[in-house]
Amino acid sequence: MKLIGGNYIAGLLSSEGESTFKGINPLDASELPTDFYEATIEEVNKAATKANEAFAIYGKKSGKEKAGFLDAIADEILNLGDALIDRCCAETGLPVGRITGERGRTMGQLKLFASVLREGSWVDARIDTAIPDRQPVPKPDIRSMQKPLGAVGVFGASNFPLAFSVAGGDTASALASGCPVVIKAHPSHPGTCELIAMAINAAIKKTDMPVGVFSMVHGKSVEVGMAIVNHSLIKAIGFTGSNKGGKAIFDAANKRDEPIPVYAEMGSTNPVFILPNALKERGDEIAEGLTNAVTLGVGQFCTNPGIVFLNEGSISSGFQEKVSNYFEKVEANTMLNEGIKAAFDLGVKNLANNDKVELLAKGNDNSIGFKGTAHVFETTAKNFLKNNSLEEEIFGPSAITITADSKEELLASAKELKGHLTATLFASESDLEDYKDLIEILEQKVGRLIINNFPTGVEVCHSMVHGGPFPATTNSRSTSVGTGAISRFTRPFCYQNFPNHLLPNELKNENPLHIFRIVDGEMTK
Ligand code: NAP
Repeated sequence: MKLIGGNYIAGLLSSEGESTFKGINPLDASELPTDFYEATIEEVNKAATKANEAFAIYGKKSGKEKAGFLDAIADEILNLGDALIDRCCAETGLPVGRITGERGRTMGQLKLFASVLREGSWVDARIDTAIPDRQPVPKPDIRSMQKPLGAVGVFGASNFPLAFSVAGGDTASALASGCPVVIKAHPSHPGTCELIAMAINAAIKKTDMPVGVFSMVHGKSVEVGMAIVNHSLIKAIGFTGSNKGGKAIFDAANKRDEPIPVYAEMGSTNPVFILPNALKERGDEIAEGLTNAVTLGVGQFCTNPGIVFLNEGSISSGFQEKVSNYFEKVEANTMLNEGIKAAFDLGVKNLANNDKVELLAKGNDNSIGFKGTAHVFETTAKNFLKNNSLEEEIFGPSAITITADSKEELLASAKELKGHLTATLFASESDLEDYKDLIEILEQKVGRLIINNFPTGVEVCHSMVHGGPFPATTNSRSTSVGTGAISRFTRPFCYQNFPNHLLPNELKNENPLHIFRIVDGEMTK
């Protein structure tokens, strides 16, 4: 399968610009074949215009038709076979097993949305029938449901080259809700992006969708991304990536003449609290699990636990020593790209230079290519309370333990936390009784609260919440993983006094789609 290196604008390859770049193999910093053409502003304009034209058709497709399209994308991704796996491993340094698993997750996500569309009740249909003889004024017939917003701009992250990229969660939820997508390909895995774009285009042909429903533009500079954000025909943004990038895009979207919603899913340090009895009973097991969770995939997960709160008993329990022993055995491993490796090295250097922070241990050092060395630090809750920049994400295999002198100090530290994707409690039954107030504090701080599991895995299912208060995201009212994400690119729309034949099938009297609806205050089918 030959890569071309062009932009995919409504089904056509386009390379009008002069600036090109290559994919880089992080294992040895070598350039991979194929020149990728950065999109011009005119190409972004064409993609947005075609997406807007497609919206007039695609936005009206039935749930079954859109489900067929999503299933076809999943099938075409599988049809890419080893070409996809090989290129993706070469561009990311991630192992075959991980990429194969992520491909399955990406396909599963598309198929899960397809099943939601076939069932159909996601539109949240509400019907209030008319009461013409109501006094003192008649009640009109009012019906509402969720409708797609329009063309959506999507940005994927480098660390999930499939599941949070071209056919990842945001693309799946936008297409499921009826919104065309213009995606900014990630420059860290451009060939992978192109292969997935081919699969989506094949699915468009197979299921007879309007060609403008999907476009992909390359860009190694922020101009291309900003051109998407600022385009007047783009009606919402889905972003996964760094806090810096997400905030810049959010601010730009709010400065537009017509501000638009930005769902930016950003970095997080995912605080872990190890409570006294759990520490006493399972300290060694938790230390080993923590080391694995921090260093899994060279720590390049947004759910990687980077900050660990302990109580005063932790020193006497020898927990820090146990963690140090495990960290010292961790091999340095290849990070996704030069920028991520440089940012990681700077982050750990800054922590090491902080005179209130001690380096507990580091893993095997190996500076070849873009390898990252695991680090674990320690400080006190008193220091954390004076300097909560210690909770900022260092993207990679690094964590800091923070020891509180008392329960009160632990709770005070929890209250100081900003927004995160997750928080975790390692706790016995009696710890949970004793620390009910900690649970209440953390409910205000995160999108997912976990007991006795590490936060790294994010199940794709109906009830998952992958989000949280700022700065974990720019919109805490949504999730980027799981079928709940379908509503991020929709808005409620209301029909008043419409004749039955003009209503969408979802709201017709006879309920032809057999979906769950609230009719005159009662859930019915
Ligand atoms: P990134 O550097 O922010 O890049 C993400 C995308 O945004 C890229 O296409 C990038 O393009 C673009 N971009 C970044 N800054 C921009 C700006 N100012 N203007 C316009 N476009 C901009 O993030 P990354 O390094 O790929 O991913 C790692 C980060 O993602 C980590 O912080 C991780 O925690 C986070 N992450 C979060 C989640 C989640 O669900 N919350 C999931 C996975 C990863 P250029 O490279 O061309 O600038």
